[in-house]
Amino acid sequence: MNHLKNKIKQLEKTALKLEPGQEARQAYNEEVLNYGEDFLRRLGTDLSYDDADNSLILEDIKIGDKGKPLAELIDIFTKAVEKPGINTASEGHLGYIPGGGLYPSALADYLAALTNKYAGIYFGSPGAARMEKVMVDWLKEILGFPEEASGNLSSGGSIATLTAVAAARDAHEIHGAAVEKAVIYSTTQTHHCLHKAIRIAGLGTAIHREIPTDQHHKMPLQLLEEKIHQDRSNGLHPFLIVSSAGTTDTGVVDPLDGIAELAQKYHLWHHVDAAYGGFFILVDSLKPIFKGIEKADSITIDPHKGLFLPYGTGAVLIRDIRPVLKSHYYLANYMRDAYSGEEVLSPADLSPELTKHFRGLRMWLPLHLFGLNPFRAALEEKHLLAVYFEEKIKEMGFETGGKPELSVVTYRYKQGLSEEEANRFNQQLIKAIHQDGRIFLSSTTIGGRTWLRCAVLSFRSHLSTIDKTLEMIGEIMNNENM
Ligand SMILES: *Cc1c(COP(=O)(O)O)cnc(C)c1O
Repeated sequence: MNHLKNKIKQLEKTALKLEPGQEARQAYNEEVLNYGEDFLRRLGTDLSYDDADNSLILEDIKIGDKGKPLAELIDIFTKAVEKPGINTASEGHLGYIPGGGLYPSALADYLAALTNKYAGIYFGSPGAARMEKVMVDWLKEILGFPEEASGNLSSGGSIATLTAVAAARDAHEIHGAAVEKAVIYSTTQTHHCLHKAIRIAGLGTAIHREIPTDQHHKMPLQLLEEKIHQDRSNGLHPFLIVSSAGTTDTGVVDPLDGIAELAQKYHLWHHVDAAYGGFFILVDSLKPIFKGIEKADSITIDPHKGLFLPYGTGAVLIRDIRPVLKSHYYLANYMRDAYSGEEVLSPADLSPELTKHFRGLRMWLPLHLFGLNPFRAALEEKHLLAVYFEEKIKEMGFETGGKPELSVVTYRYKQGLSEEEANRFNQQLIKAIHQDGRIFLSSTTIGGRTWLRCAVLSFRSHLSTIDKTLEMIGEIMNNENM
């Protein structure tokens, strides 16, 4: 017995290294916070994109039996992680769909990790589970969903879409032989996460019709209805329409109200992918574009985009909870304690995740700390910055995809070039922009043509950012090597 106790005590001495004392913690805090302040100070002047990849040094740093000093690890982090690639926290991140990463969310993540609250189940942490519920309730409210609708905070839009596709599948009992006759409609501009969700949900052999978009890159209602008609008369089973409230490529919103009507008329599930655009509904002048979203059966919306939260915060809302429970609810034997029989549904009952990151806090804290006004203002500001950019880039001789509906501008330089030459020129231009790195922009291909994109959604991007962007493009255009 004594031998056993001695051995345990001996192990405890080494294991206690995992619990640094107050003085050590203070030193850690200081080092991390100093790094944080330095990082924020440098944001205005650091590159938005650095193509030198220093991440390989991570491969050489072996996990030893003894620890290393924190300062050394922060130094490695700075070189190998912070520097290379896109500076996604910077004002100059105008590629893909930016967001920024609000500071209070970083503090909320600290509190979430420190208290390590269990957000999966009410029994484990009624507060953490309820915080997720009230955040979902707020999303329901702003999107016009009824009280009985359910939802979940996910890691992002892709998992949110997966949950919605699985719910649509189960609501329409698409399984077995029914899969091959089932039809899903989206457009050529729908986000590719739908393709993944379809395959993961076991619907890979279903018919997926990607309807060619109209000249504004939106879902053409008439063509959609024709396809549904045709498929029905051919004995197929149309069951799901996926529309976009803000496409990633061009930032446009499909005619949601008209699609909702068709979905109702033909008894189809209507999923709206509002991952990028959803939060623009908070802006009074943009709200009308979203008319009909409240009639959807499910919605994807990403707080890590339009609410400027750090990555890892998406959400799904679902009007009818029953099909969600069919795919996601499971009462495990070892968790009987956690259920009293008349329980409220926990976040884990509506999600593929059981143990989940306590995401509610990183959303709840900034919303309450700042109130809604700065969010609304920032979203309207981003929209108007995109409008401003579109006008200015036209003045510089570029062709554009028109006035931005939300905050994405597409543009290309064509001036006297053939389509092929224009494609080559614009590809060269985006390469030169990436090499420059002051501002990060991206490109895309629409109908075989190369377009550059400017996506304004970081809360740190302001008028001066757009002016810097225009200046940079002008300088690169004037460079004799272009
Ligand atoms: C970003 C995005 C997604 C995917 O969301 P993730 O959070 O990256 O998983 C889906 N749809 C649209 C329209 C998006 O912009």
